[in-house]
Amino acid sequence: MSKTDKDYKTIDAVIVGAGFAGIYMLYKLRQQGLEARVIEAGSGVGGTWYWNRYPGARCDIPSMQYSYQFSEDLQQEWDWSEKYATQGEILTYAEHVVDRFGLRDGMTFNSKVIACHYLSGEDQWQVKTDQGEQIKTRFVIMATGCLSKPNYPSIQGLREASVPVYHTGQWPHEGVDFTNMRVGVIGTGSSAIQSTPLIAKQAKALTVFQRTPNYSIPAYNEPLDPDYVSQLKSRYAEYRQENWTRGFGADFDENDQSAFEVSDDQRRSAYEARWAKGGLAFLAAYNDLVFDMKANDTAREFFKEKITARVDNPALAEKLVPTTPIGCKRLCVDTDYYEIYNKDHVSLVDLNEEPIGCIDGDAIMVGAIRHEVDAIVLATGFDAMTGAVMNIDIIGESGLSLEDKWAEGPKAYLGLATAGFPNLFLVTGPGSPSVLSNMLPSIEQHVEWISDCIEYMNRNQYRAINPETRAEDAWVEHVNEVAQTSVYPGCNSWYLGANVEGKSRVFMPYLGVPPYIEKCEEVVAAGYEGFQLMGTS
Ligand code: FAD
Ligand code: NAP
Repeated sequence: MSKTDKDYKTIDAVIVGAGFAGIYMLYKLRQQGLEARVIEAGSGVGGTWYWNRYPGARCDIPSMQYSYQFSEDLQQEWDWSEKYATQGEILTYAEHVVDRFGLRDGMTFNSKVIACHYLSGEDQWQVKTDQGEQIKTRFVIMATGCLSKPNYPSIQGLREASVPVYHTGQWPHEGVDFTNMRVGVIGTGSSAIQSTPLIAKQAKALTVFQRTPNYSIPAYNEPLDPDYVSQLKSRYAEYRQENWTRGFGADFDENDQSAFEVSDDQRRSAYEARWAKGGLAFLAAYNDLVFDMKANDTAREFFKEKITARVDNPALAEKLVPTTPIGCKRLCVDTDYYEIYNKDHVSLVDLNEEPIGCIDGDAIMVGAIRHEVDAIVLATGFDAMTGAVMNIDIIGESGLSLEDKWAEGPKAYLGLATAGFPNLFLVTGPGSPSVLSNMLPSIEQHVEWISDCIEYMNRNQYRAINPETRAEDAWVEHVNEVAQTSVYPGCNSWYLGANVEGKSRVFMPYLGVPPYIEKCEEVVAAGYEGFQLMGTS
């Protein structure tokens, strides 16, 4: 039961964020009879799928996999309409889950957590919101998302632009009508690649400002075949189980051969077959594509041909072909992206030749050229993995601030908790597979680990849990060692924090779902090895 301690309400757990992580966390803690509350900055649930309402937004992992598996009834009764569901359908799904499991009354919306301070003497966290609310809680769970803090580039004059500026990650709920407008889109990551084909359909003129080209493969999205759905649902649980043994926790039809175990012709046929199916599974064509630069080069050459074939103007095509290793920035999945450049009203500005100088009223200035527009779309991504957590003033034991602790890069044991901040958990935090996996299963795995841990603590009367610095350091080192065996650190990606000015460059996600799960299970089996558990004293 909640009680009032002076100005503070006291509950068992505060969960920050009402995306898929926060929703499931609340469900799990309520199952234990705990009083937990979700606090969400937005006015509704869904997280990513609440905020990213730009045209064309949809998942790039097939929906039959990008969905919860914790309830067999839920996964049997829910029907996705397309292979890759739209943002709207995924948001409806999130709302359905919340209502189906009666979770809405445990959520506070339009409220942002601004501070979490640990009171060592009380083993409590003091949580403050921007609405003036103060809560004392034993546990804090950061379900704040890996891609939830939009990255606003520091372009001079942007704030003073005389035309509307939209960020894909904070898109207006009522939508935007670009009919008869001249639109400038800054960025060529997944958000731009999904949105520009639809913006191009409406706009009078579209100018895309590209700093680094990305690799994209067609989605070949389609309505789901009812026979395929019923066949998969007849063995859904088993299928999900199989996916835990796969590198990215997703069914990408992984081939366990090296790209060089086959002849050039065989490799080419395999690439053609993967291309014809479309989607992220391309990268699983061979087991060394993201580990061996020479293998990676074979895929790069193939992509170069495919991209070039989709663009009529050879000089333009050349600008659209990346030179970075394939996969070191997340592979994009598109519907008719490259084809927009064959239209007369679409143009590309290569910022490698000259960066954006400033925004001057209604013009994006590149060198002396004024690109006049009626609207600017920032498809400039996110302060990934750490941005949302670091946005909160978090003070742990002995006055240690998370901002100081993570100044040289995030440190977290298994991406689940960070030393010096007892009873504070991270869902898909840095050092966990998170963004290098199918995120919904990864979220479920983290939520279950955390809720099992809390249940264990209560059963054994432990008042606090805190990672040991030694274990944490060893894990962070291991995360980096594994990353160095791959092509992932090989370019300026958001995985490394390179997209945000002044952010330290550290490779943040852990590569490999199966070894990660194994490690998490070993830690628990050994009595939470690497964690310090404090008794009731
Ligand atoms: P989020 O959904 O990001 O939710 C976090 C919530 O926390 C947000 O609603 C935010 O408002 C809230 N919050 C943050 N800070 C505070 C605070 N201080 N106070 C209160 N509330 C706060 N992953 C895949 O695996 N497959 C995909 O196909 C895929 N597609 C994606 C498409 C887009 C456009 C984007 C941006 C990401 C995509 N992702 C995808 C990654 C996606 O973020 C995750 O799959 C998943 O939705 C994350 O859920 P979450 O609950 O962890 O975080
Ligand atoms: P992103 O991949 O980080 O792309 C941002 C783009 O903006 C990049 O092209 C970047 O260029 C550019 N940019 C940033 N600052 C700039 C500046 N000052 N001047 C010019 N260009 C600038 O962000 P995103 O497209 O939003 O995607 C982020 C992640 O979200 C994805 O990788 C994916 O994990 C997820 N996502 C998934 C989907 C999906 O298909 N389901 C859709 C959207 C997002 P540089 O590369 O040079 O930094």
